[in-house]
Amino acid sequence: EVGVAVRGLHKRYGPTAALDGMGFSVGPGRVTGFVGPNGAGKSTTMRVVLGLDTADEGTALIGGLPYRSLRRPMTHIGALLDAAALQPSRRARNHLLWMARSQGIGARRVDEVIDRVGLATVAGRRAGGFSLGMRQRLGIAAALLGDPGVLMMDEPFNGMDPEGIIWLRGLLRALAGEGRAVLISSHLMSELQDTATHVVVVGRGRVVADTSVAELLAAA
Ligand code: ADP
Ligand code: ADP
Repeated sequence: EVGVAVRGLHKRYGPTAALDGMGFSVGPGRVTGFVGPNGAGKSTTMRVVLGLDTADEGTALIGGLPYRSLRRPMTHIGALLDAAALQPSRRARNHLLWMARSQGIGARRVDEVIDRVGLATVAGRRAGGFSLGMRQRLGIAAALLGDPGVLMMDEPFNGMDPEGIIWLRGLLRALAGEGRAVLISSHLMSELQDTATHVVVVGRGRVVADTSVAELLAAA
């Protein structure tokens, strides 16, 4: 059972309702866009799915299990949350080796993911000297380490140059083609309409539309 099921999430930060009944599913073998304006609750939802934050109400399951009961190496889910915050003083390959070691994953897999994200020529450099687009690639490499069935990325197109955007679109389609469930957040539908086949549109902490991209474009 590959995928994510989010049901009835509610979360308040003081007077702000960050999540107000958020619920949707992410199925295998496709790219699902998670689209809505800034502040709609996309990052909070992803943080709750990953057990980095708790909801006041509702459930979030990965392959039928809550994040806290998943085992390492992390073959269920890989995530990219905030690429800008990646360890600046670490050399890219060393950072990945350190992350891999903590999951019992070997160096060969590290070099595979470095190749897959196109960082082989700069893997010996410190991440602090990387552009945001390169940090996004490094974060994606980290997310791929455990060869996970589900991939979740928060605004991965941010800071990517045109070549990077084309590359990332191809990568996302390929990851879905390998049978993975892929959830990509964006505040721009245009970033995802050539890549995602399904889209969950959100606003003010809840789902506004949950449909195929073909239907969404036909209705527009
Ligand atoms: P998005 O990812 O769609 O931009 P977020 O999930 O980041 O939306 O934010 C949803 C709402 O929750 C916003 O109003 C945001 O200001 C608020 N919020 C998110 N995280 C916190 C936090 N740690 N403390 C207070 N408010 C927060
Ligand atoms: P330097 O070039 O300054 O020695 P490196 O990037 O080579 O820094 O990393 C030094 C050590 O820190 C390595 O042994 C590596 O495994 C470990 N390391 C790498 N990334 C992290 C991290 N994110 N957190 C903690 N330790 C890390």
